[in-house]
Amino acid sequence: MAAAAATTPHSLLLQRAATPAAPPRAAIAASSLRLSARAARISCAAVAAPSPAAAAAADEAERGVYNFAAGPATLPLSVLKRAQAELVDYHGSGMSIMEMSHRGKEFDAAIKKAEADLRALLAVPDTHAVLFLQGGATTQFAAVPLNLCAGPTDPADFVVSGSWSDKAFKEAKKFSAASVAWSGKDGKYTALPPFDAIKQNPEARFLHICSNETIHGVEFKDYPEPRNKSGILVADMSSNFCSKPVDVSRFGVIYAGAQKNVGPSGVTIAIVRKDLIGAAQPITPVMLDFKTHADNASLYNTPPCFAIYICGLVFEDLLAQGGLAEVEKKNAHKAGILYDTIDASGGYYICPVDKSVRSHMNVPFTLAKGPDFEKQFIAEAAKEGMVQLKGHRSVGGVRASIYNAMPLAGVEKLVAFMKDFQARNP
Ligand code: PMP
Repeated sequence: MAAAAATTPHSLLLQRAATPAAPPRAAIAASSLRLSARAARISCAAVAAPSPAAAAAADEAERGVYNFAAGPATLPLSVLKRAQAELVDYHGSGMSIMEMSHRGKEFDAAIKKAEADLRALLAVPDTHAVLFLQGGATTQFAAVPLNLCAGPTDPADFVVSGSWSDKAFKEAKKFSAASVAWSGKDGKYTALPPFDAIKQNPEARFLHICSNETIHGVEFKDYPEPRNKSGILVADMSSNFCSKPVDVSRFGVIYAGAQKNVGPSGVTIAIVRKDLIGAAQPITPVMLDFKTHADNASLYNTPPCFAIYICGLVFEDLLAQGGLAEVEKKNAHKAGILYDTIDASGGYYICPVDKSVRSHMNVPFTLAKGPDFEKQFIAEAAKEGMVQLKGHRSVGGVRASIYNAMPLAGVEKLVAFMKDFQARNP
């Protein structure tokens, strides 16, 4: 069966796979056919990643939209195409990676490579384990205190810099004596504290931060140290994971839902200092105990195989771009032109976030002319192929999420549109 599939032209398989999907644009169907023809000529496993510039151009031409969603978010087109080419017959096995045992050799190779590439990208030291988990970052809000605190009276500190760290704090209160060491609520979550203004409990087991608040657009540019010398720095990096280099050794736990920068929803990545594993509270469910997953190389139960595989493709793509230092430069440039446009608009567009902590990933802004104009802005932008620009339902306004996979051309198109919109609606 596998041998037959391996000699079958992939074009037929891919055409069949592409046809019922009813793609929204004729261009996508055409691209599937082009891809099929190409896949028939070359091995699926060997599809070369196009240069970033070529990928950006292809994005515009073939997808027809730039997707500014906060998550699940846009993925590199080259990754989607590679997944498409490998979908039906993974590496000549005659099966999709979705159809295989998670204990088989193909998936084993895929998860090991994903971990190795992530370790290379973030220079994860041997002192830290990489875990592929489920339940979203939200589940880590409970898992972190369950794994790090001895019981519900063990203190933990939280910097509450937006909705996500607030949720993390509230969940942690169930499993620890969590307290707020600093809150940005009064300032509507538009700033971060100087580190010496964080009122840390010297006994706190850990200090939790959200490195990038996805809704409010506030991003840590450096990280505080726990005041407790044996305290642990914990970060929810869901929305800026792998967007820049990070000194992993400073953290006891980093966790991130994949669906913003590195893959589809369904997998949550945790990077945990190994000496912190194995001391979970007795009530900890087996699936929330880091030890369960560390001892079983993330294969204790059936993992989200397809999501992990896609993350692996994204990691490969990030390495091919030159690693996270290069990726950071691109992200800074994209964010820079967007914030510059906002700041040069004479108050037409307003980003309330303190300039020193503005997120390079999520750019929230409002229009001084009010919500009706924001609605019009979002609707007109969508007509021009810039979609999912609506701000989070809790804050309204506009939010442009410009993760790693958003091409520069997408941001350039957005700023050109912003200037045009302003000129047309003074
Ligand atoms: N933390 C942050 C910073 C987020 O942006 C999100 C999701 N938007 C979450 C946590 C929750 O993640 P999940 O939906 O994967 O549980």
